[in-house]
Amino acid sequence: MAQTDSNADYYTQCLQDLSLASRILAHHGIVDGFGHVSCRDPRSPKDHYLLSRNLAPALVKPEDIVAWRIADAEPVDPNSPRGFLERCIHSEIYRQFEDVEAVVHFHSPDIIPFGLMPIPFRAVFHMASFLGAESPPIFDIGDAFGPGTDMLIRNTAHGAALAATFAPSAPSSPTRALVLMRGHGATLTATSLKLGIFRAVYTQINARILTSLSALAGGAQNAVQGARFLTSEECEASAATNAGQVTRAWDVWCGELEN
Ligand SMILES: [Zn+2]
Repeated sequence: MAQTDSNADYYTQCLQDLSLASRILAHHGIVDGFGHVSCRDPRSPKDHYLLSRNLAPALVKPEDIVAWRIADAEPVDPNSPRGFLERCIHSEIYRQFEDVEAVVHFHSPDIIPFGLMPIPFRAVFHMASFLGAESPPIFDIGDAFGPGTDMLIRNTAHGAALAATFAPSAPSSPTRALVLMRGHGATLTATSLKLGIFRAVYTQINARILTSLSALAGGAQNAVQGARFLTSEECEASAATNAGQVTRAWDVWCGELEN
């Protein structure tokens, strides 16, 4: 009985955290009326994930969260409210990568330029060290589905193609953290919901710093040639340190929502 109670409490906390996560993303301008965040459903993590019904992220409350099937992105309860058009982003990433616990998809204008041309999107400071010393992959929906799409991830085929872009760089590596999406935005993965939000916030800040660096250096090319970005060893060490600080950031961002 006690175990059941504790499982129920954990599920309730998940709904609360997911609604907070959604609102933190909106508060930071990472999402606007669009964009979404999900996590695996703790009641059935291999088969289901949790994601809001079709709603602007700033408005999401715990009661708006719906359980979806990883197999086909359909609702576990057929009477659930309508979901996001792009929920196959989430289902296909969970289906392909067992180590992913949370997914964030966003259209932040700070990120868009880096998906349009190969301007290196490397970690410029320690808080974004999870990005690593190599630029993330760029997913171009036109490569697989031709020049006439509306750019959205509308079905499992689109989702599977995007998800495949997250494949680890080596067999023993974790799933890639970030994929830029040409003319659309970005999607990122994490091993926890709070880490996913941490990564989203610092991805956006990293983009802003790179943009200001390019302006100061007289262009992106000058910035890339002249800047001393974090090395892969620095990224690895710093990301390990940051992993222990995620709750501290989460707590302050939740506090900002209350204010
Ligand atoms: Zn989108």
